[in-house]
Amino acid sequence: MKLEGKTALVTGAARGIGAAVARVLAAEGARVALTDVLSDRGHEAQTEITGAGGIASFFELDVTSEPDWRRVVDQVLDRYGGLDILVNNAGIYERNRVEELEVETWKRVMEVNAEGVFLGTKTCIPVMRKAGGGSIVNISSGASMKGSRWSSAYAASKGAVATLTKTTAVQYGRDGIRANSVHPGAIDTDMADQVYIDDDVRRRENEAIPLGRAGRPEEVAKAVLFLASDDSSYISGAELRVDGGS
Ligand code: NDP
Repeated sequence: MKLEGKTALVTGAARGIGAAVARVLAAEGARVALTDVLSDRGHEAQTEITGAGGIASFFELDVTSEPDWRRVVDQVLDRYGGLDILVNNAGIYERNRVEELEVETWKRVMEVNAEGVFLGTKTCIPVMRKAGGGSIVNISSGASMKGSRWSSAYAASKGAVATLTKTTAVQYGRDGIRANSVHPGAIDTDMADQVYIDDDVRRRENEAIPLGRAGRPEEVAKAVLFLASDDSSYISGAELRVDGGS
């Protein structure tokens, strides 16, 4: 197994891509700390993993809270004795063109999507450095590369995630810490229901994808596994698209 003896923390792991990442990392032997603001669904996701023979715990964590980050990372260290992999996955979506976007919405999306990744990175770097290294995988979006017809703060926040990832790679490579970003296209999760306002839009958008369909959360999770594991030991600061060729 690729992650035997490693510990991973995944944010937004109660459902969608985060839950799939937690399952895939656990299936490769990692001890997984699932975190989310959704406590009930988070515990369900944890139970699914332990029921399948994996090692996992759920911790309530709002990625915008620095005290939450400190508390949860301490709890993970107490329980598992280390932290080797951080997957900053939690995110929220908004659907507005620039002129329709309220400042408060801009701030909230930036707070969760960009500041949340910053706080997680800031909290986990000292722990990883002390252990001699680690891997940080940040979930950005294809919108960070191409812009978005429908969302504004969301696309900008994902650009911030991509640049912070490269900055982390540059600043902490000497500490053995790698940082990479994953850029999903259309993936079938609850969030996709907010992106595609009706079935017609969804069908048209899916037909425009070169592979002809939306992706599954597990297909993103396998890219995260690659970047989290030693299979990508000489890859840092990279942007990996998982978008069916879009
Ligand atoms: P989901 O909405 O299905 O899951 C996101 C999870 O993050 C939810 O459980 C959500 O809880 C949680 N969350 C939201 N805010 C916070 C917070 N402040 N602290 C902790 N957890 C929080 O989304 P996806 O699985 O689709 O998306 C996962 C990531 O992938 C996101 O970063 C998203 O931007 C990115 N992505 C997704 C794409 C897609 O097509 N699905 C495409 C490109 C990128 P709650 O329900 O309470 O908000």
